[in-house]
Amino acid sequence: MSHRIAVVGAGPAGLTFARVMHRHDRPVTILERDPSRDARPPGGTLDLHEGMGQLALRKAGLLADFLPLSRPEGQAMRILDVDGTVLRDWPADPDEQANPEIDRGQLRDLLLGSMDVRWGQGVTEVVPGTGDGVLVRFADGRQETFDLVVGADGAWSRVRPALSPVTPHYTGITYVETSLDDVDHRHPELARLIGDGSVAVYGPDRALVAQRNSGGHVKVYAQFRAPLDWQADLDPADADAVRSSLLALFDGWTAPVLELLSHGTAFVRRPLHVLPVSHTWAHVPGVTLLGDAAHLMPPLGVGANLAMLEGAELAEAVAAAGDLDEAVRAFEEQMWARAGRWAKMTAAWLERLVSPDPAAALAVFDDVHPGPSVTTAPGGADRAG
Ligand SMILES: Cc1cc2nc3c(=O)[nH]c(=O)nc-3n(C[C@H](O)[C@H](O)[C@H](O)COP(=O)(O)OP(=O)(O)OC[C@H]3O[C@@H](n4cnc5c(N)ncnc54)[C@H](O)[C@@H]3O)c2cc1C
Repeated sequence: MSHRIAVVGAGPAGLTFARVMHRHDRPVTILERDPSRDARPPGGTLDLHEGMGQLALRKAGLLADFLPLSRPEGQAMRILDVDGTVLRDWPADPDEQANPEIDRGQLRDLLLGSMDVRWGQGVTEVVPGTGDGVLVRFADGRQETFDLVVGADGAWSRVRPALSPVTPHYTGITYVETSLDDVDHRHPELARLIGDGSVAVYGPDRALVAQRNSGGHVKVYAQFRAPLDWQADLDPADADAVRSSLLALFDGWTAPVLELLSHGTAFVRRPLHVLPVSHTWAHVPGVTLLGDAAHLMPPLGVGANLAMLEGAELAEAVAAAGDLDEAVRAFEEQMWARAGRWAKMTAAWLERLVSPDPAAALAVFDDVHPGPSVTTAPGGADRAG
């Protein structure tokens, strides 16, 4: 019997789910609120882990197309202190495929391929157990019924309330994002500072992280502890005012590092919200969640990877299922166990990365980084700038 299946959200989770379903000749209706694929800038770079995002791409039959787009050199990482002293420098091995980077827009295009997405379909509510299946209500007043609705609609999911009353809470840490274009030609000193991958500078209760994307584009994240309404009275479009506030916040840091902020021309405030660690719900037939909708956690290199892996695993389970509901129930148990472990770990990392003691941030990298740093002692370290 062919089930009527919808996925809400065309992010990494929803698109991977749909793509793997299509590979198994199972139709899925993809409902996306954005009016078109280019309605919003796609965002920064993502590293896809071998056993997570890359495994999901393998299940989707897309790994071979991913590899030429990926940037193994983007795994390079350099850590400085606020004076510009290089504390750690991990160059990338170009043959190492553990966590290569890809621009989010390239990944989205790869996953989209020629799949049909119903753009401009903002879902407002999902009502299970109507007799004829699960009712989906849309912002324009229409409604439609499905046998299975997969909520892959991100942090502020409109599907989640059908399963759980829980909403994300603020972590106490805010990111402000800016970017630099054509960095190799316009800002060659900064290009050298950033290298092929990322540079991170840790001070008390704040950090500056710059990540290279493809085409000389760099995303810069100022990260700091602040109340949720930090500078709420500032017009976000007033780049000069936001830049001045940030430069005041990072006052005293070495000039070459502050240039990461002073060259930014537009700033986006991203207060970090998370769902409680180990968020679960009582299983409801016909509705489930994937990715950030199920387990929003700090943005520390895992969320998109988990979202994609879950999308692929749920699709495989549904495609092989004798009993659709049993397959979804078993998938949820597996997702909760794994996501709970990552949520706990990333919550602890976030506390250490933006902490009163910058040595705690350095220790996170020493714990997780597989290879030796080329400069391991601050005494013998290079300086930036
Ligand atoms: C600054 C930053 C850096 C990050 N870096 C990394 C990284 O390096 N590696 C990593 O693995 N993760 C990273 N993450 C986390 C990652 O972005 C998310 O975990 C991932 O995007 C989650 O995918 P998703 O498909 O669940 O949700 P989303 O990517 O949020 O996609 C949800 C989709 O649903 C749509 N939607 C929302 N509401 C509705 C609605 N009501 N109706 C219809 N459609 C709707 C949205 O428009 C969107 O297209 C980062 C996050 C941030 C903020």
